[in-house]
Formats: sequence, C-alpha cells, structure tokens
Amino acid sequence: MPRTPYVAANWKMHKTVAETEAFLGELLPKLPANGVDVVVCPPYPSLARAVELCGERVAVAAQNMHEADSGAFTGEVSAPMLRELGVRAVVLGHSERRQHFGESDEALARKLPAALEAGLQPILCIGENEAQRDGGETEEVLTRQLDADLAELSDAHLEQLVIAYEPIWAIGTGRNATPEQAQEAIALIRQTVAFRNAEAEDAVRILYGGSVKPGNAAELIDQPDVDGALVGGASLDPGDFLPIVEAAARA
Ligand code: PEP
Repeated sequence: MPRTPYVAANWKMHKTVAETEAFLGELLPKLPANGVDVVVCPPYPSLARAVELCGERVAVAAQNMHEADSGAFTGEVSAPMLRELGVRAVVLGHSERRQHFGESDEALARKLPAALEAGLQPILCIGENEAQRDGGETEEVLTRQLDADLAELSDAHLEQLVIAYEPIWAIGTGRNATPEQAQEAIALIRQTVAFRNAEAEDAVRILYGGSVKPGNAAELIDQPDVDGALVGGASLDPGDFLPIVEAAARA
C-alpha cells in the first residue's frame, strides 16, 4: 500500500480567529481534491472555527496536549477536550516545547497513548541540534528519542503515528536539511520503527520539517522515505503553503 503524502501547517503562536478564517477562505477552494492529506495546526482559540471551516478535506490538529484526561493542571488542555471540538491530530514533542517549556521524553511517553486513546493522531517531532549533528550523534539522538517517546505505546499502535524529523538547526533558520540528509535520517527512523513492528515500517508516515519552502519542497518530499512535510514559517501564507501541498500531491 503506498503511503498518502501528508503536509501539516504548524502555525505556532500565529493567527487570530479572524486570520484563521481568512487563511482557510483562501486555501480551501484551491486545494487538490485528493492525493495528499492536509492538516492545519492553529493555536487553541482558533481550533473550533478551523474544524467548522475545514470539514472533511483538511484535518485540524492541536500543537500540544496534557497526558491526563482532566485534573488540577492550570493552563493545560486534554486530548478528550480536543476530540470533542472535532480536532483529529496533535503535534507532540515539537523542539520549541522541549526547549522552552521543558517537555520531557517521559511526559511524551505518556502523551502518545493518551492521544491515541482519545482518537487523536499523534504527530511526534524528533530531531538533533546543531552540536549533535556536528558531533556525529544524529543517529544516537534520534534512536534515543524514539525509544523514550514510544516506550509506552504498544507495537500494534505504531502504524497510526505520524513522525516528523525536525533537525533543530533547520527550524526557522532558512537552512533546510539537504534531501540526502532528510532521506538518511528518515530511513533510520523507519528502520527503528520496523525493529518493533515490521508492518508499521511501510505504514507509518514520516515527514521532514525545517525551513521547507515552495522552492525546496519537491526535492525533499520526492525522497523515497520522506512522506511529506511539517511546515512552520511557510505555512502562514496560503500562497506559500499551497505549492508545498501541490508538490506533495505530485510526489
Ligand atoms: C516547525 O516549526 O515545525 C518548522 C518546521 O518551522 P519552519 O518551517 O519555519 O522551519
């Protein structure tokens, strides 16, 4: 079974409800009818309106969630709360959350099964920093993160995941990984998944993220193991995001 390409727009802390409406109003009529799964990840206040506008064609994802269903966790949001809104996926382990908000591998290990239990598809982000790449530690970092983050997920559930390889040195820097670097890292991630579940090797979708733009999307997504892109900066303008989606639909 070929894997359907997948492109996700990570808006981070950008776009009000009105700006979300304007973006989707421009993007939705122009999207290819099929051949690519498209996901938008707005900030929490825009989720409900995004779900309403996106319908079936585009899935709406949150950018984080708490592992508990409810409790005394001021400022947090749970998976069942997101699901009730019609949210279908959730970004987990983005490097900005790991770096600025202390998101730990232990918490991620609990969040992944909680997301699936509630019916949310996890988009798990992993990636090395610049010193780790320069020090030849990329493989070790990626396998360590995968082992830790997937520790509480059963092997049978692995194929439901989306994984994003996001080298930290490429995020928001304008310096993307080369297609060869992306392919190499993503093939390694796929192999690591395969050690636990051979069937998941072919099913799990693994994205590249880090300074993806209309000008470099095709060469990255055309790599054999790269199933799409997690896009930050270039996802804020439909005029940049649409050509990336189209490149994935052609891959
Ligand atoms: C991201 O935030 O996940 C990301 C990949 O950002 P950018 O595309 O801006 O590098």
